[in-house]
Amino acid sequence: MKNVTPIIPVSEPDCQVKSWKNFLKEAVSDPLELLQDLNLKPEDIEYAIDPSNPFKVRVPRPFIEKMRIGDPDDPLLRQVLSLDIENADFEGYSSDPLKETNSDTPGLLHKYEGRVLLILASACAVNCRYCFRRHFPYQDKVANGDSLKESLAYIKNNPTIKEVILSGGDPLIVSDGFLQSLVDELDTIKHLKRLRIHSRLPIVIPQRISRELCNIFNKTRLKSSLVLHINHGNEIDSALIKSLNKLTEVGVQLLNQSVLLKGVNDSVQALVQLSERLFEAGILPYYVHMLDKVDGAAHFDISQAKAVALMNQIREQLPGYLVPRLAVEEPGKGSKTVIT
Ligand SMILES: *Cc1c(COP(=O)(O)O)cnc(C)c1O
Ligand code: SF4
Repeated sequence: MKNVTPIIPVSEPDCQVKSWKNFLKEAVSDPLELLQDLNLKPEDIEYAIDPSNPFKVRVPRPFIEKMRIGDPDDPLLRQVLSLDIENADFEGYSSDPLKETNSDTPGLLHKYEGRVLLILASACAVNCRYCFRRHFPYQDKVANGDSLKESLAYIKNNPTIKEVILSGGDPLIVSDGFLQSLVDELDTIKHLKRLRIHSRLPIVIPQRISRELCNIFNKTRLKSSLVLHINHGNEIDSALIKSLNKLTEVGVQLLNQSVLLKGVNDSVQALVQLSERLFEAGILPYYVHMLDKVDGAAHFDISQAKAVALMNQIREQLPGYLVPRLAVEEPGKGSKTVIT
């Protein structure tokens, strides 16, 4: 007899897990479809659209729902729409501005004392056009299988390491089962005190904060933080706040890093609103980065002088704890450089 798929599944699937993966699968990859969803035409946009960029458009529906219909200058749209101008050459821009492609253990970056960064995944749920990793040769740089074992051995043998940072790509794109087994391993390394995750995934798919993920944080002895990546106040809505509250309840410290981006958040008003919205969501502003000069991102650049002026102005309007540190990453330095 032919196998017939029952309409009502016999055992109920875990809705949370299923839905974040579905949102991931159903992410929009056609810039013209994205524009259509927002009631926009290509000629409404300041630059020509590039529908065939090798760094593909990728944007999950819950993020699109936070964009304004009919606004060609929407700050969220601008972060994800592929434009022809990305293909132009600009002086001072390169494909690997941070010189990260020559580290020894694949998937592990130990640039700063006491902290190591593990590149856990090559993909992201959203492709941000300004991303400094857009040309990163991930395939051979991800910590998985043998290279993950090698990275764990490296951490075990270095008692100076107190904190492991899971990064990517987006580390939360891996399954909760995989994360759980990794955190179990890290838990056994005595000199480790802290676990940090750098992720943008919950911003574009709030359903990613699954019960299983919360359990991982609840169980670990490591003090945990989640450094989110939010660039504009409109990225924070009630669905996100509700999801993040579940993490706060299990003791996760929420922080945010953003990138200063022309046409997205390069105004006093936008930056003040961002900090205020972050605090409403239980998140403290941590870093705001100058754009890394990666090929394809030049149209987002603002000068350091303008960045410093903006920071000085927001400092007058916000309590000190809501003013992020303005940082640049310079190859070869022992920490990020904070600009004052
Ligand atoms: C940014 C970064 C860190 C973390 O730096 P903090 O100042 O602790 O946030 C660690 N390792 C690498 C390679 C980094 O780029
Ligand atoms: S989520 Fe982060 S790593 Fe991924 S494309 Fe965006 S900025 Fe880059």
